[in-house]
Amino acid sequence: TVGAVAVDKEGNVAAATSTGGMTNKRYGRVGDVPVIGAGTYADNATCAVSATGHGEFFIRNVVAHEIASIMRYSGKSVSDAADKVVMKQLVEMEGSGGVIAVDKNGRIAMPFNSAGMYRGYIKEKGKPNTFIYDDE
Ligand code: ASP
Repeated sequence: TVGAVAVDKEGNVAAATSTGGMTNKRYGRVGDVPVIGAGTYADNATCAVSATGHGEFFIRNVVAHEIASIMRYSGKSVSDAADKVVMKQLVEMEGSGGVIAVDKNGRIAMPFNSAGMYRGYIKEKGKPNTFIYDDE
């Protein structure tokens, strides 16, 4: 998967996700990535989310929308909401993967419960502040 989330200076958020699917692709399998609310979601009231991992679990948990809903209805931060879904809900059913998320104020969250997830971010246009994490 290659995913991106962004926020502009007005607080509009956006998410995009691309995938080659799981290893040993099954014919006709769609996966979570193109299912809005599962692997990809953006809502100016809460956050933008792009996910990677075992798609069936992300669909069953409607992961990206679930993170936004937790923010909307419980007032949690983007990192608390993302942690709750990725590190608790998904872990409880052994759903492997992670997300990148950003809220309208530019706060980011990048939790993953898999062995690794390459992530990076640019904080301010014109002032690159990019970190590439090389997780094992
Ligand atoms: N989430 C994708 C899928 O289940 C796999 C990936 O992370 O690329 O198809």
